[in-house]
Amino acid sequence: MLELTIEQISMAQSAVDKPAALQLLAEKLVADGLVAEGYLAGLQAREAQGSTFLGQGIAIPHGTPETRDLVFATGVRLLQFPQGVDWGDGQIVYLAIGIAAKSDEHLRLLQLLTRALGETDLGQALRTASTPEALLKLLQGAPQELALDAQMISLGVAAEDFEELVWRGARLLRQADCVSNGFAAVLQQVEALPLGDGLWWLHSEQTVKKPGLAFVTPQHPLRYLGQPLTGLFCLASLGEAHQALLERLCGLLIEGRGQELGRATNPRAVLEALGGDVPADWPSARIGLPNAHGLHARPAKVLAQLAKRFEGEIHLRLVDSAEPAVSAKSLSKLLSLGARRGQVLEFIAEPAIANDALAALLAAVEEGLGEEVEPLPAVAEVAVVVEETVVVTPKVQAPVAGQQLQGIAAAPGIAMGPAHVQVPQAFDYPLRGESHPVEHQRLQDALVQVREDIEGLIRRSQAKAIREIFVTHQEMLDDPALTEEVASRLKQGESAPAAWISVIEAAARQQEALQDALLAERAADLRDIGRRVLAQLCGVQSADEPSQPYILVMDEVGPSDVARLDPARVAGILTARGGATAHSAIVARALGIPAIVGAGEAVLLLKSGCPLMLDGQRGHLVVEPSEEVRQRAIEERETRARRQEAADARRLETAVTRDGHAVEVFANIGESAGVKAAVEQGAEGVGLLRTELIFMAHSQAPDEAIQEAEYRRVLDGLAGRPLVVRTLDVGGDKPLPYWPIAKEENPFLGVRGIRLTLQRPDVMESQLRALLRAADNRPLRIMFPMVGSVEEWRQARDMTERLRLEIPVADLQLGIMIEVPSAALLAPVLAKEVDFFSVGTNDLTQYTLAIDRGHPTLSAQADGLHPAVLQLIDITVRAAHAHGKWVGICGELAADPLAVPLLVGLGVDELSVSARSIAEVKAGVRELTLEHAKSLAQTALGLGSAADVRALVEKQ
Ligand code: PEP
Ligand code: MG
Repeated sequence: MLELTIEQISMAQSAVDKPAALQLLAEKLVADGLVAEGYLAGLQAREAQGSTFLGQGIAIPHGTPETRDLVFATGVRLLQFPQGVDWGDGQIVYLAIGIAAKSDEHLRLLQLLTRALGETDLGQALRTASTPEALLKLLQGAPQELALDAQMISLGVAAEDFEELVWRGARLLRQADCVSNGFAAVLQQVEALPLGDGLWWLHSEQTVKKPGLAFVTPQHPLRYLGQPLTGLFCLASLGEAHQALLERLCGLLIEGRGQELGRATNPRAVLEALGGDVPADWPSARIGLPNAHGLHARPAKVLAQLAKRFEGEIHLRLVDSAEPAVSAKSLSKLLSLGARRGQVLEFIAEPAIANDALAALLAAVEEGLGEEVEPLPAVAEVAVVVEETVVVTPKVQAPVAGQQLQGIAAAPGIAMGPAHVQVPQAFDYPLRGESHPVEHQRLQDALVQVREDIEGLIRRSQAKAIREIFVTHQEMLDDPALTEEVASRLKQGESAPAAWISVIEAAARQQEALQDALLAERAADLRDIGRRVLAQLCGVQSADEPSQPYILVMDEVGPSDVARLDPARVAGILTARGGATAHSAIVARALGIPAIVGAGEAVLLLKSGCPLMLDGQRGHLVVEPSEEVRQRAIEERETRARRQEAADARRLETAVTRDGHAVEVFANIGESAGVKAAVEQGAEGVGLLRTELIFMAHSQAPDEAIQEAEYRRVLDGLAGRPLVVRTLDVGGDKPLPYWPIAKEENPFLGVRGIRLTLQRPDVMESQLRALLRAADNRPLRIMFPMVGSVEEWRQARDMTERLRLEIPVADLQLGIMIEVPSAALLAPVLAKEVDFFSVGTNDLTQYTLAIDRGHPTLSAQADGLHPAVLQLIDITVRAAHAHGKWVGICGELAADPLAVPLLVGLGVDELSVSARSIAEVKAGVRELTLEHAKSLAQTALGLGSAADVRALVEKQ
């Protein structure tokens, strides 16, 4: 990412003219290894197309798209010219910022610069700056403005107490991207300040990204600390940005007008009183930006010049951004939007000029603002289209006959049938509504209809998992936070569909931003109900299904799309995007529909009717399979079905190899309720209780008593079978909403697992106490996640042993998860001290192969059967057995039929898998002899790739 630093700055340069300045810059970029020789021609060509003078004594020379190939690394170099260089048209440049960018990263730089560009005498200051530090400070510009607009105000919210109001205020700030997750928890710790007239004030600087103020009022008057509570200000404080607002608020209070705020029924009144950005109730129009490189300096300049021709205000905002609208006449403000191709611009113009101005601006954008543009794909061109556009990049080719594709295995089973490619529906609707009562009624009618539809789906759903998803959908529909935001937009004159979908989309984006795969996938649920209501509002019918059993091909499939499908007609599901933990995958598994997700954009180019063969267990797709491939698949499907039946019949027996070697098969569960199904499916114990899921199910950290009750429920359900519990494994990629964690550039390599809990001994101790109390001398094994050093293990062990003196437990073992390569390599040392190891192959694979386990395109290659991962498991088992300790595997690999012989052959003692897989894993063990498995494992250790290992086992 492009950022400005002092190392990039060369002070006191001189150049007689612009060509000489460009030459100097090019030499600097070449000397610093950012570009190849020849980039100068790119800089010159770009200036010939139009000056890169930005204003305020700054120019931003950069190459043309043709010279991008000469860029080795993205970066910038800044040359100060105190004597100035004439950049043409009498514009004098004191600072030239040379950009080497492979793509449109320079838009980010422009965004950074725009704050400085607002300063009136910046050019002179840049000229006279005497140190790189001073120059950088000038570029970083004026302090950020306080964000305060209609979206930051929520009036009459259904809150029961002060805490709920704080949550709501923090949520508004988070939606506006002013704060990171966890700001609500921060505010809960801060002492609230009573302002009088029932108004309260809270502020903090922690986790603040940019300054913002939210104001919330309760539906019914509340009391807090014995005083009335009619309104709460939550300030995300940064620098002095809020000073003016504070002064204004004090003035209001002194004038005795504080009650006006608590009683306000519309955000406009609050904004007018506080001096925030009052929403203009003006005509608006939207259009997708077609410029290949976004709204960069040249087209922005054309746009600003055109806007300036109209005598009246014109604002512009990005529809999918929480940022407020900016003046369309200001070049720097336009650049600060950082608009990219395909993003939808909304122009808002003063009524007197709206007709002419909006038409002219839309026409100019459509024509490319002085650049040659490729029109956007048809769907995106429609002025108002829900963001469902799938932009298939031109490089992606349609799969050809016989081609094999690999996706993420989401629901097992082999399916064959013609492709039925469903393209996203476009919804066309007006932005402004007829009148508030009409739009309100339309929305209510649509919501009633969708609620009825969902109730029907719940009644018809056989599987509990599906019913639960629809119950969640109903709750989402009734979520007061969503409905209030929609109501406030309707009051401002938006149409029902426009208001509804903007709120849903903003909430879905926010969910995705949580950086937790599981939570982010819930965004699909939000969009799913969003689409249903929108379809109802726009009178759009779903596309008809073909009559013969088919394979449904979609970009991403919503859970309700899947649940509405008839398994007798839908043979399989194939999606371009998505992960195996998405609800739609869960629904597919529950319905028994084989599914592959995340197979890549190319599948969207398949023709409807094209025959496909899909193996949802392996994630393989074959396009137009030959007769031979089809026959093999049919045979395999029959064999698998027979095997599953036989395995189910013996699920409650132990798993012993043909030569008498027993392997324990345990279950992975995430909630206490899961234990019943696990035992019924034949689990000999729980091998991994993911306690973070228990924490995530609560809106604040569950106290010791709540935790103890949960753990007790699991131990009761196990009736004497062992329970292996993992202590809280959060942080980094899966934050807890109520636990503020600083944002990390690379969360998988950051503060997560044991690293985090050791920093919060209070949380860890309370969890350990709850576990020890719940044990009641039943077999309890506690393991610590993400251990990477001996020191971490010792600290965790010592803490547990200390608590054990307080709460004795007879049958307790302490172990660690092997998820980090360093732990596996240290196993010979650790094995002397631990009671057991449990290998978390999901993480161990990602860290060994350096592939993010949730990566949209690479995760399919993160195969735990890679010989490097097997080597680490081998080291672990050898070390453990040398000291009489046991080893389990609790990652997904344990349930992979091809992995079972190898893991048994490596000497693993226990396999812990999801309840559904227990019978199959046990059956897999029974087919083996230990001797053969050992020799197979030894051969695998000598191979070079996961594919070779898979081929080896498949050959057996
Ligand atoms: C693992 O990493 O293999 C594991 C079991 O832990 P989780 O998937 O919960 O990170
Ligand atoms: Mg893990």
